[in-house]
Amino acid sequence: MPPMPNKSLSSLFIQMTGWLLPAQCWLCRAAHRHTQFVCAKCIATLPRNVEACSHCAAPISTSLNAPPRGSRRDCLPRYCASCLKQSPHIERTVAPFLMRDSFRELLHAWKFDNRPQLSPFLAGLFRDATTNEMGIHVTTNKKPLLIPVPTQWHRQIWRGFDHTWLLAQALKHAIRPDAELQPWLSNTRARQSHHRLSRAARWAHSEGRFVGDYRIQGREVVLIDDVMTTGATVSSAALACHLAGAKSVCVWCLARTPAPPSAG
Ligand SMILES: [Zn+2]
Ligand SMILES: [Zn+2]
Repeated sequence: MPPMPNKSLSSLFIQMTGWLLPAQCWLCRAAHRHTQFVCAKCIATLPRNVEACSHCAAPISTSLNAPPRGSRRDCLPRYCASCLKQSPHIERTVAPFLMRDSFRELLHAWKFDNRPQLSPFLAGLFRDATTNEMGIHVTTNKKPLLIPVPTQWHRQIWRGFDHTWLLAQALKHAIRPDAELQPWLSNTRARQSHHRLSRAARWAHSEGRFVGDYRIQGREVVLIDDVMTTGATVSSAALACHLAGAKSVCVWCLARTPAPPSAG
């Protein structure tokens, strides 16, 4: 008797239904024989954050300080005007997509339409975009400590799941199964939701927002978040990690807001 393939029955079932029944793409609604939620054509056209600041992943113009694509200097770090003025608490931010158009639609389906099952798919998009297409090395030699940026408890209840925790779990599985995943950041106090705040107000509200666990000391931390808008929340989380003694802090984030947003 031949050995059973090393797959769980559920993943085998999903693959078999993908072969037999066409699925409908969540974005363009076209039928496709793909085991993913989104067809290959839509995945290829998701908006990418190609030219980005090495510190904060803010999109930067190629006409400023970015060398031409494909040149030797192309792999060197580049920085936005804000980070050139004042270096943030973050060593490196990887945010391969832009929060607009089809990617915004996908994120909203995940976060606001109660679709936690999209978490592994989004982690797979992150992995493929960072390792295959953009040449960004998201791996380090040492075992990293993954910490999701905590979300407010009342938003978790309203949403039905903790989206940054699920994303961190999926990224660990997809990229670094050896990484340690811990909830070692906590909110110091209940805060007003950032959705309706201006950019300046977001920075003011984020100051001193998090406290890091003492076990962060000496560790190489990777903060996990879904979207960076102004960077205020992640910067505050990174500062808390440094105050707790982190050796370094990097950020893995799915998407970056492309331009100064109108609502902050
Ligand atoms: Zn599609
Ligand atoms: Zn920057």
